[in-house]
Amino acid sequence: MDTREALKRSDEISEKRLLQLRRRNAELEILYDTIQDLTSTLSVNQVLDRILDRTLGHLDAEIGSIMLRGPDSRLRVVAARGLPQEVVEATAMEPGEGISGHVVSSGRSLIIEDVEADPRFARRNHERYYTRSLICSALRRADTVLGVVNVNNKRSQEPFVPEDLRLLDGIAAHAAVALGNAHQYEETLRRAQHDALTGLANHGHLFSMLELEIARADRYGRDLALAIIDIDHFKAYNDRHGHRAGDEALIRVANTIADLSRSHDVVARYGGEEFVAVLPETRLDGAVAFGEKIRQGVESTSFGPNGRHELTVSVGVAVLPRGGTAATTLVEAADAQLYRAKAEGRNRVCSAEPDAT
Ligand code: GH3
Ligand code: MG
Ligand code: MG
Repeated sequence: MDTREALKRSDEISEKRLLQLRRRNAELEILYDTIQDLTSTLSVNQVLDRILDRTLGHLDAEIGSIMLRGPDSRLRVVAARGLPQEVVEATAMEPGEGISGHVVSSGRSLIIEDVEADPRFARRNHERYYTRSLICSALRRADTVLGVVNVNNKRSQEPFVPEDLRLLDGIAAHAAVALGNAHQYEETLRRAQHDALTGLANHGHLFSMLELEIARADRYGRDLALAIIDIDHFKAYNDRHGHRAGDEALIRVANTIADLSRSHDVVARYGGEEFVAVLPETRLDGAVAFGEKIRQGVESTSFGPNGRHELTVSVGVAVLPRGGTAATTLVEAADAQLYRAKAEGRNRVCSAEPDAT
């Protein structure tokens, strides 16, 4: 090799090296942006959405999904792009089963350049949606594999290449941390806002929600009602059956109230054996009917070791007056009616006229 040839060859090598460095630099920039994006929210759903949007955008892919292990350790789709809803809902697999299950049990990411030619996948293809090429990375936190990110089909029709998988692995490593943090935050928040015994909203959360509902009802001129429910002679029940049985009865009453309320009602444990239900879009007659349903529901529930129907509740109902009022005033108005229900003999529903609040 003469000098000129050697120089040319050395130029070619540095050109190639430069290209590699540029690509690596672009990859690092993508990773840096993605990490910033993923760690700037503590909502699990937002983290999931951002993982998919970033990943599909950078890899120029059509289809993507995130599968996480549930408490039963089966993998389910928790977020997806480009997949039919019925596939999202129906897909569940054991670790070790299928491509995603394989990645979960081995902890190693996978690239399948041509699905048609791969015996692990071909059998199931065409059935539900079309996959040509795919990459799949594990979402790992410490020693645990939480799930996987799947990316299918490049828009360019080209197969995925190892650099694509390296980028997905990089994103997945940070995504798992962001997901773990968001999950922990949501769980801590849920615990802080809910009563540990019954799982209902606690006193503090009740008032935050009530203030929001009052502001909303006031602003848009909507109806809002509130019911306070108190177990009758509960002290005597505790004395007869013990505190443990008392706790179980509280759970049953809480479940009865929750089962009989609508999804946007706020049901809370207000104190010891007292509950509050905030009922949006509800007038006085509707709230009284709700109170009556709860009263009958508890009366017909069997409690205690003998399965007897020995508990009843008294209910006080009030509605938000025109022009609104403070949360505490609305609660006091319902409480005055509860007091009346107790005085009139218990196991009944009493209500205040709208202008009495
Ligand atoms: P009333 O019909 O007037 O409401 O009578 P009551 O006995 O239900 O009311 P009181 O306020 O005198 O007593 C409430 C009782 O509720 C006192 C306590 O024994 C019981 N209680 C409150 N919180 C809990 C709890 O978390 N677990 C159990 N087991 N009992 C509770
Ligand atoms: Mg009571
Ligand atoms: Mg009470």
